[in-house]
Amino acid sequence: MTEWSTNKIRIHDIMRGTSADGPGLRTSIYCAGCFHHCQGCHNPQTWDPLSGYEITLGELYQIIRDEELNVTLTGGDPMYNPEKFALLASKIKEMTDLNIWCYTGFTFEELIKSPSRMALVALCDVIVDGPFILEQKKSSLLFRGSCNQRLIDVRRTLSTGIITLYTPDNILNLE
Ligand code: SF4
Repeated sequence: MTEWSTNKIRIHDIMRGTSADGPGLRTSIYCAGCFHHCQGCHNPQTWDPLSGYEITLGELYQIIRDEELNVTLTGGDPMYNPEKFALLASKIKEMTDLNIWCYTGFTFEELIKSPSRMALVALCDVIVDGPFILEQKKSSLLFRGSCNQRLIDVRRTLSTGIITLYTPDNILNLE
């Protein structure tokens, strides 16, 4: 075990082969801890950062390798623990061609103010940003719950400096 892999992180669940958190079948990691406390949140059991159970990054990485599916980081909010998720995401990007989606209650504009959060953003392919707003809930939205949330194409956004949305037109690049 190398140093990064022995880091422990608290998670609630690992969903293998889910189609709910991005395109195709994916391995979704549900982390512990979220302070956004959105009204109508589907996962309030993940709000407590001490809830769930501990697992090492090495164990998580091995599960992802075994599944050979693209990855979604969700919760909870992975952006409350960006350093450890960045270690995991960095290893995924170094060793595989899997893509990474990340759900967060922060807006992209808030994320760019934090170097540690931006380090994780830069390792992701798509960021689904913003809190869930019950008044803007819409069941027909693609991979998100309320109209304020955006599917942001990270590579295009960082290369142009303009927030660029993931759309069906570029879905093939992001699956
Ligand atoms: S950001 Fe997500 S996990 Fe956190 S309270 Fe809002 S909907 Fe729930």
